[in-house]
Amino acid sequence: MQENKIVKVQNLSCIFDKGTENETIAINDFSYEFDMKKFHFEGEVVEPASKVLVDGTVYSKEKEIVVKLHVKTELKLCCSRCLDTFIYPIDFEIEERFTNVDESLDDDVIFVKGDELDITDFVEREIISTLPIKKLCSNECKGLCHKCGKNLNIDSCTCDNEDIDVRLAGLKALLENKEV
Ligand SMILES: [Zn+2]
Ligand SMILES: [Zn+2]
Repeated sequence: MQENKIVKVQNLSCIFDKGTENETIAINDFSYEFDMKKFHFEGEVVEPASKVLVDGTVYSKEKEIVVKLHVKTELKLCCSRCLDTFIYPIDFEIEERFTNVDESLDDDVIFVKGDELDITDFVEREIISTLPIKKLCSNECKGLCHKCGKNLNIDSCTCDNEDIDVRLAGLKALLENKEV
């Protein structure tokens, strides 16, 4: 198994102060890929479908470092409606500010313990935070037949699904009774 490449921004304290409050200085550019491990999300195990590609730039700004990233990957998700596995593409850009200076009062800045920032760890958490609660293989997903269990995206069935909504069925019965 290939070892995961871990990209860390080291010696944060040396990077700070290269830029000033008004002047942001680019310190370095990086581009790498890594294998994300399986993880749990909303009670399911999510498997990656491809490597995570990361392009980024690190900037110095007074007591902060600013990291701009472009992240691309694909995950295998299970559709909440038809239960089929589908590939969910992820492609986002993010800019985040970090500091390890304790007295930072700015809530928008992420505090880093020590003198090292693990970009891979940050990227993984950001990927997970972009996942939707309701995972649909497509907005038009027809789901499964409630009676025979067939995946209606692939096949149609002959079940009478007219009365599928119990509440509506109840209302219908009520209205019919009133008419009598
Ligand atoms: Zn589906
Ligand atoms: Zn059916």
